[in-house]
Amino acid sequence: MSEKIKHSNTSQTLSPAGRAGEGYRLVVLGGGESGVGTAVLAQKKGFDVFLSDKGKIKNKYKDVLLKNGISWEEEKHTEALILNASEVVKSPGIPDKAELIKALHKNGIPVISEIEFAGRYTKAKKICITGSNGKTTTTLLIYHILTKAGLNVALGGNVGKSFAMQVAENACGPDANDFDFYVLELSSFQLDGMFEFKADIAVLLNITPDHLDRYEYDMQKYVDSKFRIINNQTESDSFIFCIDDEIIAKELTKRIIKAKQYPISLKQKVEQGAYLNENNQIIINTNNTNPLSMTIQELALQGRHNIYNSMAAGVTSKLVEIRKETIRESLSDFHNIGHRLELVGNVHGIEFINDSKATNVNSTWYALESMNNPVILILGGVDKGNDYSMLNDLVKEKVKAIICLGADNKKIIKAFGGIVETILEANSAKQAVDQAYKLGKKGDTVLLSPACASFDLFEDYEDRGTQFKQAVRGL
Ligand code: ADP
Repeated sequence: MSEKIKHSNTSQTLSPAGRAGEGYRLVVLGGGESGVGTAVLAQKKGFDVFLSDKGKIKNKYKDVLLKNGISWEEEKHTEALILNASEVVKSPGIPDKAELIKALHKNGIPVISEIEFAGRYTKAKKICITGSNGKTTTTLLIYHILTKAGLNVALGGNVGKSFAMQVAENACGPDANDFDFYVLELSSFQLDGMFEFKADIAVLLNITPDHLDRYEYDMQKYVDSKFRIINNQTESDSFIFCIDDEIIAKELTKRIIKAKQYPISLKQKVEQGAYLNENNQIIINTNNTNPLSMTIQELALQGRHNIYNSMAAGVTSKLVEIRKETIRESLSDFHNIGHRLELVGNVHGIEFINDSKATNVNSTWYALESMNNPVILILGGVDKGNDYSMLNDLVKEKVKAIICLGADNKKIIKAFGGIVETILEANSAKQAVDQAYKLGKKGDTVLLSPACASFDLFEDYEDRGTQFKQAVRGL
């Protein structure tokens, strides 16, 4: 089977990239970081550009639109101004099933993502990272290593500043001085809008059920979306993937992969790629000579899941020919951003860990797996169709109490009622922390790793994590 598997949202035929000044009208849907960056780039390229957002546009973005003389609207989508587009760049937050997108498809208007659009205007090497979990961590880690090595590198995609904006600022005009590398975190929603874009190095960390509501509850559609990361790759490109992931391994037997393959594994030795040996050392090898080895204790990021992330970053760094010493040093001095297994502190011998970014069951599984003390687990929020049974064994082994932190906790209580003796409910981070502290004994760990989205009680996962940290600091 060819790697270009068609499904509903990939079957559109793309017109060639438009040229300015030929009546080519580019419409951008969504006035957030990526939309505004896209509009600025399109403007610089001389397109007739219009931006439309169904919600309110933040003032800081309105300022940019005004400053650049870009026409826009907010709190509505005026179809007459959108359905005459030559091409539409859609923010990843807008689902394909939205009526407007359906209308665009019906009218044969190509709908692409910011990454597809901006990718047309830079010759830099693109290092692209996707997966269900670990994208941000791995993207930041790769960026950290490349920066430390002194390479001319930028960060973009789902994290940091808009990729399109950076291309607009650095790769356009007579004084263009583009980056040599872009490290891009890509969600499946961005990948769905990518057609001719090519990653020079593609990283696929894992595939576990997530966001299935956007894929008609069809896991294969979500898998196909993730595999778009290797679209258009040739023999001179590289594909780094986790061979321990059963879904990825099975998928590889069905696809023709043109790029050079670099599997990573904690379970089996691989010739090229990275693996864990019997002495708990990771071995990273990309050219059969001069492998890099390092013990897992030396890695800044602890926990099994993070070994995969470090391996993926290590292989990437070797592929761009960074010195072993620099890679080793960078893998051991990296500081991850907050809300990912973040140690908040220790109060009277009880440790508090903020893993608010764990918004699906798989990431909570890895969090629990890395715990060495008895755990009081704070779980719950907006359930995305979770199957909690994969947590049963770890919960039996490690969890002494569960505190449910969601508006509706019935499913969690039902899932763990027969396994854990103490299950309490809380409706604020402070209440959850107070309850956990009362239950806790010296040597216990209180772990906020909710396996759910946060929108029922919080603004987002960052708000949930921040409130948790404040409550811990208030003890
Ligand atoms: P993403 O950007 O894909 O959401 P993050 O790096 O923000 O990933 O991490 C999200 C959650 O997943 C955190 O709870 C983190 O501890 C966990 N996690 C990180 N890497 C992995 C991995 N390789 N496998 C499973 N879980 C992971």
